[in-house]
Amino acid sequence: MKKTSTRLADGRELIYYDLRDDAVRGAVDRRPLEPTVTSSAIRRDELLGDRVAVASHRQGRTYHPPADECPLCPSRGERLSEIPDSSYDVVVFENRFPSLAGDSGRCEVVCFTSDHDASFADLSEEQARLVLDAWTDRTSELSHLPSVEQVFCFENRGAEIGVTLGHPHGQIYAYPFITPRTALMLRSLAAHKEASGGENLFDAVLARELAGERVVLESAHWAAFVPYAAHWPYEVHLYPKRRVPDLLGLDEAARTEFPQVYLELLRRFDRIFGEGEPPTPYIAAWHQAPFGPLADFEGVVRDDFALHLELFTIRRTSGKLKFLAGSESGMSVFINDVPPERAAERLREVASS
Ligand SMILES: [Zn+2]
Repeated sequence: MKKTSTRLADGRELIYYDLRDDAVRGAVDRRPLEPTVTSSAIRRDELLGDRVAVASHRQGRTYHPPADECPLCPSRGERLSEIPDSSYDVVVFENRFPSLAGDSGRCEVVCFTSDHDASFADLSEEQARLVLDAWTDRTSELSHLPSVEQVFCFENRGAEIGVTLGHPHGQIYAYPFITPRTALMLRSLAAHKEASGGENLFDAVLARELAGERVVLESAHWAAFVPYAAHWPYEVHLYPKRRVPDLLGLDEAARTEFPQVYLELLRRFDRIFGEGEPPTPYIAAWHQAPFGPLADFEGVVRDDFALHLELFTIRRTSGKLKFLAGSESGMSVFINDVPPERAAERLREVASS
């Protein structure tokens, strides 16, 4: 992998990740861009103890542009995009309309391929591995920024999820605090460690799931299952079998095997609802240990956390979406219409032959 860092016309950083070590990325951003003005503020909700990023500048962001004006395609001739070069393998750049910026963190865009009409599931194993390496490198780089406590790599796929650009891409949020969901996991981890005399809750859950009926697929270095209390109609958790706190901890064997396993999961997701159905909208979310202090979680150390990916869809059946309505949005109590055992069975039925 070759990495080339450059600056866009408005000062934002852009990094090319190339498969070929002799790739030359010298193109200059020729757009007359004003320096970006971002006004993102983090407000803490006193009653809930969580935080809200207020980012009013996002109202002006690019919304469903026509394919020939896609800002994530490479620049070609006089059609200038966010990517100055006329081609790329994987590219990462600072979001022009970030939800988090400055002391409040950082938001980046990851373009998985220059092919506008592809999706992640269409990538070759080599290309998917390059994305994994880019996620890993960004996690490392962002973790060194002084304000950053947690790095979150994710993909929203499909207009139903609210994706405003059709080009295959994901995002990385670097938060200046530990997110509520990670804090909940760390609290459960601390309580279980204390109550069990030192057992790791992630290890216990993975061992139990692997012995049960909700396994979706298992390889030498990875395991995927539908969790016992899945929140979403179709939800899969993918763990490396050897517990590591973050993407940086994955060894070469797990990295080499990841593309095959993850591409298979994504391809199964597109088959859940049968032939002729539009591609399944999904969210793929990497959970990594925070980089900040863990003083609020007594007895827990960083290495207790288990890197894993949570993949889920908001589609519950053909043509119908699961909405976060009264119980979910009002009280944070999920109602799931698809039994997790049935979801796991379906995800095994649609395996590639
Ligand atoms: Zn595009």
